[in-house]
Amino acid sequence: MTSTYQNLEVFIDQQQNIAHLVFDRPDSSANIFDQQTLEETLEVCQALAAMRSLKGLIISSAKPNIFIAGADLHTLSQLEGDEMTHILKLGQKMADAIAHLPFPKVAAINGACVGGGLELALACDWRITSDSSAVKLGLPETKLGILPGWGGSTRLPRLIGLPNALPLILTGKLLNAKSALRKDLTDDVVPKEHLLNHAKNYLQHGFRTMPTFPTLHNPLSVNFIKKQAKKSLLSKTRGLYPAPLVALEVACSGVLASHEESLANERREFLKLSSDPVAKNLIKLFFLGEAAKKAKVADINPKSLEPITDAAVIGAGVMGAGIAYWLTTRGYPTLLKDLNPDALASGVHHVRNLYRSAQKKRVFTAEKAQHGRDLLSATTADVPLAKDLIIEAAVENLEIKKKIFATLAERARPDTILATNTSALPITEIALSTPNPERVIGIHFFNPVPRMPLVEIVRTEVTSEDTLARTLQFVQKIGKTPIVVKDSPGFLVNRVLVPYLIEAAVLFIKGEDPEQIDRAMLDFGMPMGPLRLLDEVGLDVGMHVAQTLAEAFPDRMHVPTMLQGMIDSGDLGKKAGKGFYLYEKGKSTTINPAALQYQTDSIQIGSRSTIAKHLNNLMKDETERCVNEGIVQSKDDANLAMILGTGYAPFSGGPLD
Ligand code: NAD
Repeated sequence: MTSTYQNLEVFIDQQQNIAHLVFDRPDSSANIFDQQTLEETLEVCQALAAMRSLKGLIISSAKPNIFIAGADLHTLSQLEGDEMTHILKLGQKMADAIAHLPFPKVAAINGACVGGGLELALACDWRITSDSSAVKLGLPETKLGILPGWGGSTRLPRLIGLPNALPLILTGKLLNAKSALRKDLTDDVVPKEHLLNHAKNYLQHGFRTMPTFPTLHNPLSVNFIKKQAKKSLLSKTRGLYPAPLVALEVACSGVLASHEESLANERREFLKLSSDPVAKNLIKLFFLGEAAKKAKVADINPKSLEPITDAAVIGAGVMGAGIAYWLTTRGYPTLLKDLNPDALASGVHHVRNLYRSAQKKRVFTAEKAQHGRDLLSATTADVPLAKDLIIEAAVENLEIKKKIFATLAERARPDTILATNTSALPITEIALSTPNPERVIGIHFFNPVPRMPLVEIVRTEVTSEDTLARTLQFVQKIGKTPIVVKDSPGFLVNRVLVPYLIEAAVLFIKGEDPEQIDRAMLDFGMPMGPLRLLDEVGLDVGMHVAQTLAEAFPDRMHVPTMLQGMIDSGDLGKKAGKGFYLYEKGKSTTINPAALQYQTDSIQIGSRSTIAKHLNNLMKDETERCVNEGIVQSKDDANLAMILGTGYAPFSGGPLD
């Protein structure tokens, strides 16, 4: 028997009496749960439940890299009240219907099994995953300001125990196949070719006997676990993100309640969270990020573009090495070039260290890391640079960059894209010093390259549409989120960030307690206080960008002389062991007494919230100016770029929300 629905197919293996349910959303590379798919799944379960001769059900996906990617967020984000309750009840009913089938069920997972997809898999007796690197299991709902509401908050703690389940629910972390096996989220990991056969074998294990955890139904131990988790959550989120706190309550009370009571609690709390502005902001941010990853240049069909297949990076410093590492991780043969043999050796060493640490964290297998390292070559020689793309990441000095570009224009192919990673220098001026300015563009990565998702693509007035479109496609292919900005001092992110950092230094000079300034911005939701960030970036590096901006906007940006004083005294920040704070083995210990000597007064502007408001207003105003001047194409782009480029409080939706 075979039955085809719109989003799935069901067939019965008559010889073995096994039912197969295969998700296959039409015209899409992903399976997602919209209302129709939920209804179809429920209908199938009801039909299968009546087939008494069946010995088991195997649930799989026809997509190469995705099992089920979760709920259809577009629909979900538009539902409220009764409509939302209806979809929550439907999802829970669908998962319960699978769980209650009168024969064993196995989820055969090859690819992403996330959110509602995992909630379906959790309703099965067994989960088997392939060893593909595409396998990712997790419940990322709290990252979007909501919680697992189709039974995930209820089932996961019962399956793997509260201490194992809470980190997954509260952080939304996704696990690869091996980590999922270690956490008992999956029962076995097998090569892709054996997945379905192995799933069949698992049916012979019968129904799963749920594990018994001594802590699970004991209110005292549940309360203890909850208290510890809450403390750790509050120290990380400062209470700015309601979803993890609510999910903690739901998961903890769930293990002490009946299944039905816990599901009702999931629904009630999901409904409240989903109408909170934080969830709305986080979901919008998710959509903006997805759109940026697919953005294209109007009227240019991405398929018609000549793809970039290899690259050279000029300058093997912090940024050059970081960029070369990133490109090789994404499969691009990359030549790293520096003038100075010691700098080159240290750059190559940096790339190796990044691979070592990624391998240690199981981001790459040994073979993948080796493959990446093999894609890197290095030279100090003036070799021809017949590459599709060259990214210059040498020192931040306009004259040096112009000279480098003049040589690049000679050594590269006529169609090579010439990009600079400059933080704030005028790219148009660099472009105009070359014979073909239309192929010059800015590709501005952020530090540290492997961790920062944003890349500003800086187009000049003379950048060709083809150069822009190929660069955009390249940045998307390497897995970064691009935002196209206009060539103007500091582009968007540094133009907004630097005045804020400088004003924090000014407050400090006037006499404000540095820890009070940093805490104010942490309370506001920034990932790091501004003075600590200056220490991280390096006062000399920050000063360089600040001077460029001060020259461009002399009416409102002034660099305090005290910063130069600290630089001259060697108080450069973390890399020197001393800046606003003192550092030992890379960890800050206390305020640097030498920095306090630069305080000229003892004026304190008020509470932490007053400080935060003052500093945030600067960022808001500058972002607004950038939008009005057309530096960035829209408010949405500006918000996304500030959140991804600086960690600007994501729950708030960005400086212009
Ligand atoms: P860095 O000082 O760490 O490294 C610069 C490297 O360039 C040095 O190894 C130097 O030997 C090399 N170099 C200088 N002239 C060269 C030439 N003619 N040919 C080849 N190599 C040459 O600098 P960095 O921090 O990596 O910054 C590089 C660029 O990236 C700058 O334009 C900077 O503004 C920008 N940037 C820096 C950051 C950051 O946080 N450091 C962030 C974004 C962008």
